[in-house]
Formats: sequence, C-alpha cells, structure tokens
Amino acid sequence: MQGLKDMEIGVLIWANPDPSAKIAQLNSFGVRCTQVGLRGDLDLSCVDAWNRALQSANLTATSVCASYNGEDYADIPTVKRTVGFIPPATRTEREARTIAACDFAHTIGAKSVTTHIGFVPEDTGDPDYVTVREMVRRVCDHAAKHGVNFSLETGQEAAPVLLAFIRDVGRSNLGINFDPANMILYGTGDPIEALGILGKHVQSVHCKDGNWPPKVPGALGKEQPLGSGAVGIERFLAKLREIGYTGPLTIEREGVEPVEWAKDVTVAIQLLEGLKARAAQA
Ligand code: MG
Repeated sequence: MQGLKDMEIGVLIWANPDPSAKIAQLNSFGVRCTQVGLRGDLDLSCVDAWNRALQSANLTATSVCASYNGEDYADIPTVKRTVGFIPPATRTEREARTIAACDFAHTIGAKSVTTHIGFVPEDTGDPDYVTVREMVRRVCDHAAKHGVNFSLETGQEAAPVLLAFIRDVGRSNLGINFDPANMILYGTGDPIEALGILGKHVQSVHCKDGNWPPKVPGALGKEQPLGSGAVGIERFLAKLREIGYTGPLTIEREGVEPVEWAKDVTVAIQLLEGLKARAAQA
C-alpha cells in the first residue's frame, strides 16, 4: 500500500486464480494502482494470494469490479435480460456474490466494489425497482461494515435517473464508478454533461472510449482505444478536475485480444500522462 497521487493512472485487470501473470503485466506498465475485476466464475479463495501479490509488488487495489455468471452484453435487449440485479432468477446468487466481492475488497485493502446493476426501471413503483433498491441497500450495509463503498457503474441509465436512484437508496457509501464510454455506447447521454450532474457522487472512474450506436434499434456503440472514440478524453479530464475529482484514472479496455489489449493500454497510459502534463503546465 502506498500514497497515490491525484489522478494516479491505473489499469483494470481481470483476476485469475494465480495472480502472478497479471501482477507482472501491471508492473510492465509501470502503474502503481489497479482495479481488480472478479468474473462470476472465479473461485474467490484466491483472495489471500492476491493480497500477498499486490503487497509484494507495492500495488494498490483501489476497487474490486464484480461481474456475474450468465451476463451477456451483445445488445441492449440482451443486457436488459441478463445483466446485474435485474434478472429475477439470478438475484439471490448475485447478491451473495456482491457481498463476497465486498469481503474480497476488504481483504486486499480496496476501498470500493463496483458493478453494473443493470437497467433500473424509471418507474419507482415498479416491483423490479423496489426489489433492486432493497438489494443495493443490503449490499451497501454489508460493505459499510468494512468501510467499503459500493459504486454503480454508469451506462444503462441517464444521469438524472441514476442520481434519483442513489438518493432513494439513501446510503452514504453508495456512489458511482463513472465510465464515460458507456454513456456513449448505450446512447444514454453526453458523458461530460452527466459528470456535471453526478458530481460529488463519483467515487471512481474508468478511462474508456467508444462511438455512439448505429441507428439500429437495440444496438450498442463500439468501444474504441482511448483517445480514438467520441468521449474527448481531454475534456473528460478537465470536467473531472472541475467537479473536484482527485481519485485514480483507471484504464479499462474490453473486447480485444491480449496483444492488442496490452498495446492499447500502453497507448492509453501515454495519452493520459501527456494530458496530465499539459494540464499541469496550463
Ligand atoms: Mg467500465
């Protein structure tokens, strides 16, 4: 564990049972912090190995990102059907998994657990809305015992809907993992405007890029290497500064093969370092 600088650059990696290869990769990037992704099928008994490996590499895990068995991000109807806390048949299993992710985060010293909870209905009287709100309250209450935050990842809801949901849940450790690309990929709204609306609730961010969806019903936009999509990374960083965000800038890159992933992450680190240096001189 170590003190991180303002807007320290980090990289999200997905945990394997044996942490050595992932830790070596993080070291090769020269970063000092990471978000550790836990896929639904990962046996979480690897937590002690991860804790030791992170500590011996002097790497800080800032968040744990939970995903779940059976999720599919093919298009918007499929996301609605399969992702997060919304699909009724998976709720018990996924709530237990999220609780376990909070325990994992506590052990490795991470301050938050992030996840997609799925498409929350806008109608606050909808039975799915009420049930999901109660699930989020229980997860928050468990996380709070460890001093861990629970962060909802942006994407599926427009910012005002997410803000109203957070207020309705009413837990001080509930916030947002802001992913600007997801706002674009789902066509949910301009991410910079959304950042202004969500402001103080932003607990962590993903540095990810993407293009708006094609004009086909239910289609998602396509993720792009950082700096090559529609987000506008310079204005994203400027807006983060404006809302007072000082936490890590965690690079997330999905949907590409390992060689391309490593290349894109390297380019993303260079881009963020350059933008930070330019802002510091301004
Ligand atoms: Mg993300």
